[in-house]
Amino acid sequence: MTDEVHPLDGNAAAGPLSRLFTSDVSGAVVVCGGCGREGAIATLALYGRDTGLVLRCPTCGTVNLRVLDTGPTIHLDLRGSVRMSVRLALD
Ligand SMILES: [Zn+2]
Repeated sequence: MTDEVHPLDGNAAAGPLSRLFTSDVSGAVVVCGGCGREGAIATLALYGRDTGLVLRCPTCGTVNLRVLDTGPTIHLDLRGSVRMSVRLALD
């Protein structure tokens, strides 16, 4: 028996992140601080559930995003990313 953990894709983070962002950020582009890969949040590897999410680069494994939702406060840690770009819907 192994203890191997299989991540979900980043699309599963859209629900928890919707508490923080008013638009759907699963299509937001993140540039990895480890390898420079540029891709949508939906393409990151998601570990964790509910209150604690960790999203890793599928290329190099660098943690690009951490989200801790304590209820009244949401903590967003982007230190593993160079940049996150969110395209807003225009009226
Ligand atoms: Zn990377």
